[in-house]
Amino acid sequence: MTRSQPLLDARKDASQVRQKAMIARHFDRLAAAPATGDKTAYTFVPGNLTELLLSFDILPVLPEINALQSAMRGKTAEYIAVAEKLGHSEDVCTYVKSDIGMLKSGNIGPTGQRLPNPDVLLLSYTGCFTFMKWFELLREEYRCPVAMLHVPYQPDGRISASMRDYVVTQLRREIIPMLERVTGRAYDEDRLRELMRRSSQAEDDLVWVLQSARTRPSPIDAYFGAVYYVGPIFSAFRGTDEAVGYYRALREEIAERIALGKGPVTPDGDLDRERFRIVVEGPPNWTSFRQFWKMFSDEGAVAVASTYAKVGGVYDTGFRHDPSRPLESLAEYCLGCYTNLGLPTRIDLLSRYVKEYDADGFLINSVKSCNSFSAGQLHILREVEARSGRPGGFIESDLVDPRYFSPANIKNRLESYFQMLEQKRLGGAA
Ligand code: SF4
Repeated sequence: MTRSQPLLDARKDASQVRQKAMIARHFDRLAAAPATGDKTAYTFVPGNLTELLLSFDILPVLPEINALQSAMRGKTAEYIAVAEKLGHSEDVCTYVKSDIGMLKSGNIGPTGQRLPNPDVLLLSYTGCFTFMKWFELLREEYRCPVAMLHVPYQPDGRISASMRDYVVTQLRREIIPMLERVTGRAYDEDRLRELMRRSSQAEDDLVWVLQSARTRPSPIDAYFGAVYYVGPIFSAFRGTDEAVGYYRALREEIAERIALGKGPVTPDGDLDRERFRIVVEGPPNWTSFRQFWKMFSDEGAVAVASTYAKVGGVYDTGFRHDPSRPLESLAEYCLGCYTNLGLPTRIDLLSRYVKEYDADGFLINSVKSCNSFSAGQLHILREVEARSGRPGGFIESDLVDPRYFSPANIKNRLESYFQMLEQKRLGGAA
């Protein structure tokens, strides 16, 4: 394949540079929190209540983001070793072990600055039991209050009124009073509405960007590239002016790529020839992220949709934060997040993506650590193949444990899969 950029030029588009700077500034604020007196909450990406926290001026700390960022900087092998020495089994989610190892090594975050201790642990429980066990471990470490929001699982892809009311009641009676106690401030619903109004603007632009992959060639990579696009909205910025500005600029950048007929930016620069359009299920591997991405881009394979880009909010099915009914809307957000969806809904979503994005096939990256997600993936594979008529592929790796990323194995499997897609195409053309 040919490219318009040289191999060693690790090209970054303007949006990527901008989002990295935003996230770095957030880590700076966290590092300064003990001096500035800013309050912090440890909380998870799926089902996060960022607008509510920001309405109290509480800074979110996301342990999964710390783990994946540490993995991209080559730190997690040592953190996982520390956690395993303390008795955490090999089978435990490696996000957890990385987090515990980091904490026991001085709680130095991915940017090399010390993370502040939490003023509150806010556990929004959305589908993964590990979330609960993880926060039990953190509760033993930090003497701070814990607020738990129990979000009922969506077994049949529907949010009923009683499910929503159950979550709203907890927000009113437990979560908000806890945040009032921690900050000494009263709940300000007007401020929350204003933050949610901005969330909805950013969400519109994010959806536009993700759906731009329907274009041929796709101007984005909706799995690897999307990791950067979803960073601000999945972490600490939903509801902020910075997020609104970032997503507007990103949208303009992608619109320009479409106008110029450009493919996505890859680790080696612009991809000039889109050979395969793929839908991907499962999170990426973070310890060898760039190498993993190149296994796709070297073959001209572009992810046109992914479920990972929805873990912090499934906006492309229509959900938006709604400032006119703030708590109800926050409840619906938590109920609808990807980790809270059952297998039939995930199968529907993937089958729809294959069709809507006119994909040649779909791939599952099954992650050893994540029992909640890996369970049922072979069933998903068979069902999506049957419904879409497009071939599925299956690879295995891990989130942040480099011992479980076997490059030769994964590359072989991917090459065979892409060859099979090519042969099918040639067969179809004959
Ligand atoms: S088991 Fe999976 S969903 Fe749960 S915390 Fe770990 S990576 Fe996240």
